[in-house]
Amino acid sequence: MAVREWLERFSDDVLRIDADTSREVEATRILVREPRRPVHFRSLDGSEAVGNLWSTRGRVAAALRTPSETLLGRLMEAQTHPKDTRLVDSAPFLKHSSTDVNLLGLPVPKLFPRDAGRYITAGVWVAEWKGVRNLSFHRILLLDKDRGACRIVPRHLRHMYNEAIQAGEELKVAVCIGLDPWNLLAGGTSVEYGVDESRIASALTQSCLGKPVDMVRIKDGLTVPADAEYVLEGRLVNETHDEGPFVDAVRTYDRVRKEPVLVVERIYHRDDPIFHIIVGGLDEHFMFMGMPREPVIYQAVSRAVPHVKAVRLTEGGCAWLHGVVSIRKQHQGDAKNAIMAAFGAHTSMKRVVIVDEDIDIFDDRDVEWAIATRFQADRGLVVLHDVRGSSIDPSARDGFTSKMGIDATRPLGADPAMFDKATL
Ligand code: MN
Repeated sequence: MAVREWLERFSDDVLRIDADTSREVEATRILVREPRRPVHFRSLDGSEAVGNLWSTRGRVAAALRTPSETLLGRLMEAQTHPKDTRLVDSAPFLKHSSTDVNLLGLPVPKLFPRDAGRYITAGVWVAEWKGVRNLSFHRILLLDKDRGACRIVPRHLRHMYNEAIQAGEELKVAVCIGLDPWNLLAGGTSVEYGVDESRIASALTQSCLGKPVDMVRIKDGLTVPADAEYVLEGRLVNETHDEGPFVDAVRTYDRVRKEPVLVVERIYHRDDPIFHIIVGGLDEHFMFMGMPREPVIYQAVSRAVPHVKAVRLTEGGCAWLHGVVSIRKQHQGDAKNAIMAAFGAHTSMKRVVIVDEDIDIFDDRDVEWAIATRFQADRGLVVLHDVRGSSIDPSARDGFTSKMGIDATRPLGADPAMFDKATL
């Protein structure tokens, strides 16, 4: 669907800014003030843009016409059983295509004052190498009218890029901006190499909406999601450039690195396109970074303890470093096994709290209540020293971190009157 149609669907929540807004930091001020409301900029230096569009689980679930509490199960099913996409002949963005590329003319914002410059943040990259397709998010620092420096983390796209460069080639890529939430979730999903993440999006729409994801072929032969507002077609070339500082998920400035350069050769866009902005460290970023990890944690903990109720990466922990898992405890020690399994499944996580199934893990206060009334540090605390952790944790030393698991479950066989919240 077009971003404009989503804005109409959620019009009750949308904050519309009709006044001219500067793409230099001014847009961020509004987005940070209203992190859970979609903000529609009617004129971001003359062009339309949206931020915070998919900043709540409720809105993502509503788009998929499924209740919020079923999202995790749907995502898990889609990740384990990907389904074919459908190749179609036309897409709205194919209407406007130009090789007269000027990235500087797009409503690409500079988000924070000490960011290195203007950044494209909501772009889902499509690449193919030796029969493998991959979708992933990578931020792009605008360098000039047709080039950007791109943070290509050492995962699948980096592997494809390295292989291409070693073979004396460049890597063809497409960057898609203004996507439906299932394609954004696919971009945030990291499964094993070789799995085409667009098939995960398609399994999700198949199960929730009864239809596959539509893909369309662009000039250079890649197939990309047909719903995009903008598509940038280009190549990752054998050249690096300083990238950063940039405010990432933990809301601190990520350091400067030498990163690959993207050369854009063609830009496609819809009629009256709306550019999508995701601000690092705000709720919408968490949705596509953290939420796709939750099914992975769920599955791993399920193998360690018989019944897992829910998994959440918390906003306070940047939806990456801190998690909560609720289980139905059947043996003393289940919670400790759950802690080990959760850390193994999501290696960036440094704190996990295990609670009983009566705790609402989506309510931070309820989780803290469980810690306050069911946890004793001498018996329930698991500390792991010098584990490989997240690169975005400023307190980690040389990539090593300490991890803390908290067993906030009540003792098995305890008198319920002692541990259960009184009800009326
Ligand atoms: Mn991948």
